[in-house]
Amino acid sequence: MCVDCGRDFELGLRLRCECGGLLEVVHEFPWVDRDLFDGRLSQRSGPYGSGVWRFKELVYPGLDVDRIVSRQEGNTSIYSHRRLTEYTGIGKVAVKHEGENPSGSFKDRGMTVGVSEAMRLGVSSVACASTGNTSASLASFAATTGMNCVVFIPEGMIALGKLAQALSYGATVLQIRGDFDAAMWLVQEASAELGLYLLNSVNPWRIEGQKSIIFELIQQRGWEPPDWIVLPAGNLGNTSAFGKALRELKSQGLIDSVPRLASIQAEGANPFYSLWAEREESLTPMEPHTVASAIKIGNPVSWKKAIRSIEETDGVVEQVSDQEIMDAKAVVDRCGIGCEPASAASVAGARKLVDVGAIDPEDDVVCILTGNLLKDPGATVNYHTGVIEGVSPRFSNTPMVVNADLASVEEALNSLALKGSRKE
Ligand SMILES: *Cc1c(COP(=O)(O)O)cnc(C)c1O
Ligand SMILES: [Zn+2]
Repeated sequence: MCVDCGRDFELGLRLRCECGGLLEVVHEFPWVDRDLFDGRLSQRSGPYGSGVWRFKELVYPGLDVDRIVSRQEGNTSIYSHRRLTEYTGIGKVAVKHEGENPSGSFKDRGMTVGVSEAMRLGVSSVACASTGNTSASLASFAATTGMNCVVFIPEGMIALGKLAQALSYGATVLQIRGDFDAAMWLVQEASAELGLYLLNSVNPWRIEGQKSIIFELIQQRGWEPPDWIVLPAGNLGNTSAFGKALRELKSQGLIDSVPRLASIQAEGANPFYSLWAEREESLTPMEPHTVASAIKIGNPVSWKKAIRSIEETDGVVEQVSDQEIMDAKAVVDRCGIGCEPASAASVAGARKLVDVGAIDPEDDVVCILTGNLLKDPGATVNYHTGVIEGVSPRFSNTPMVVNADLASVEEALNSLALKGSRKE
């Protein structure tokens, strides 16, 4: 169904309505209950062992199970830690780590569904524009099937770990002389004209897969929803997916109360925050600037679906600075958990929402970590060595250079009062 004019379509190769609006999948759900999904938790292989396809009836009920292309995605952990509580000021704060997915980000949850659909449609080539993780994920799934994969990335603007993945998995990598928004525009033109199947989050099947973050999170908590779910917001696919997931869990009687969503943008890439804070009618695109490359997006495609998610869940949109993002990341990393910069926007946002009085310190809060620490080693090392412009590292752990002799090592450790292991 078109989210703009409401027209119904049979979903095939077409990904947009004639009016230009985005499409959304409308399911005829079979009967489901908690026991159906809990009964599959012991499966370690096969499609129902995946944290996405465990919820197949809510994701893609009509798909033939044999057609599923899966890498056992999902099944990610939830962590709490004293330092997270101290930093955010929230007693019951936890993080769900989507960086534990096979290609290192939540994008795998959408891609397993999108690529399964591409196989069903019999397409030979798939494409996406990407700030990095979408291309890494698509390249990986395409490689498991033998489809051709073309990725459009903004030249020089994606984290090295992500570029390395796309190259390694054999994708054709087009480095566009322009930013993500230019790459996004170009891939839509190219897929319409050149017969590539588009797997950005304009593809409504991606959204169906990403709903499973919420399904799995709530199942892991014994079907007890938290008060808040806090997530980073870039192109707004996840914000859209989370609202749809909660709507459907409620309508299928799987939860009684709906948590509030908090979408967090970077201050330098905040068109959705502006739209929400100033109650604007439509989104005003901007030129994005932030160290968090995965959310460095000035013209997010899914804003209409996303605003509905915020409204329906009595949610909020907040913004955080690069300084807050990188400090929050250092805290998450220091817990031994670790994430990439964009992911830490959720934790930085939770802290800020406590400061402004939106989140109560007594609330039960889950922050989503969207990507793995190893995705962007450059940003991490630059933080700890203090070379990110405009960011002063409050939690730096600077490497020390010492001469290759024991005395120098002892001197270095003494300077840190760190001679811990020797018994007195
Ligand atoms: C894609 C991505 C985001 C942004 O998600 P949207 O659905 O585009 O809002 C945030 N963090 C990471 C690590 C990502 O890969
Ligand atoms: Zn329409």
